[in-house]
Amino acid sequence: MNKKVHRDTLIIHEGHDPRDHQDSLAVPLYQTSTYVFPDAESGAARFAGEQTGNIYSRLTNPTVKVLEERITALEKGAGALAFGSGMAAVSAILVHATKAGDHVLCTRGIYGCTFGLLNILEDKYGITHDLIPMRNEDEIEKHVRPETSVIYVETPVNPTMEVADIRAAVNVARRHGLKVIVDNTFCSPYIQNPIELGADFVLHSATKYINGHGDVIAGLLIGADREEIEQIRMTVQKDYGGIISPFDAWLMIRGLKTLAVRMDRHTSNAEAVLAYLKTVPAVREVHYPLDADNPDVEIAKRQMNAGGGIFSFTLEGGLEEAQAFLDELKLIKLAVSLGDAESLIQHPATMTHSPIPEEERLAMGITDSMIRFSAGLEHPDDIIADLEAAFAALKKKTAAATTE
Ligand SMILES: *Cc1c(COP(=O)(O)O)cnc(C)c1O
Repeated sequence: MNKKVHRDTLIIHEGHDPRDHQDSLAVPLYQTSTYVFPDAESGAARFAGEQTGNIYSRLTNPTVKVLEERITALEKGAGALAFGSGMAAVSAILVHATKAGDHVLCTRGIYGCTFGLLNILEDKYGITHDLIPMRNEDEIEKHVRPETSVIYVETPVNPTMEVADIRAAVNVARRHGLKVIVDNTFCSPYIQNPIELGADFVLHSATKYINGHGDVIAGLLIGADREEIEQIRMTVQKDYGGIISPFDAWLMIRGLKTLAVRMDRHTSNAEAVLAYLKTVPAVREVHYPLDADNPDVEIAKRQMNAGGGIFSFTLEGGLEEAQAFLDELKLIKLAVSLGDAESLIQHPATMTHSPIPEEERLAMGITDSMIRFSAGLEHPDDIIADLEAAFAALKKKTAAATTE
């Protein structure tokens, strides 16, 4: 497609020409495991890589291909691979980019299962890692070792909303010949494009904003170098096998079509709820990348074109108050995951970040009173009314407890 059209248009059209598919407006679902070779010679030529064409759906599938081409354009990359989960994408790229004895530099506070995977790689293959803040080049540079091969960046960091400077990571990586991988799940390509800032790979838990409807688990890996992406397709992806199903890719294409309008609404809803929370006496702090009080706001402004739909806040009190507050919510659903049409709320200390030892968790700023919020697409007044009612109920409970 003509790359001069706007991103909002690419989201809907890129990678699909109805003329190639019986004039079908919607991308057809190719629910097939294998493909029929026209003759033995073609079959041999496809295996030899001398003829393009499908062989088997663990390698390529026409429905999946549309998704891969579309996300490639949206992330301004050169190629992409779709996976059966975000973690399958994370594992594929870490296995591709490291070897036994290497060292990986990661932003502190990375996704829990990515942390789990790094520990597996350390136990089994001696691939070590350091979890560090990445606000500037010096903070990163001093941790680079001769055996470092990858800088792995997740920004904004979940759930503290600390921001890592992607360009700083890229600059350090260039000096030392390292690969930069960015987990862009929290922003989606609508808000942040790490490849444009010099990253080598971007990955998504497409389960979140890319799909946006809470009904698929999937992952995407986008690369700045097409040859390298195709190499991963024919090695780690093919042989580890964590591919997406054609049906899930089809749902993902359908969900992705509304990314632009959804991200605008997720962001405006998050901003409306934050403005309200700042007026509530029981709220101690709010954390949002583009909030003026965020210490990392200048970095966030350089690399994000909107604040997105996720923020965290802390309440007065501790675990008991936080849990009592969550139990009063009705419209807002108590669930992990994020980026869905439904507003979702969760308690990191006892849920997503509960595997982290308490001391480490507190050092990251994840206290018992911290709550993470993923703004949905409901009317903002209804979200705020649900929070208001929960705060009122909490106040009544606390008052009753103190007069007992
Ligand atoms: C959810 C998530 C993942 C893992 O993705 P799955 O699709 O659940 O496998 C990785 N990184 C981030 C930032 C996530 O939020």
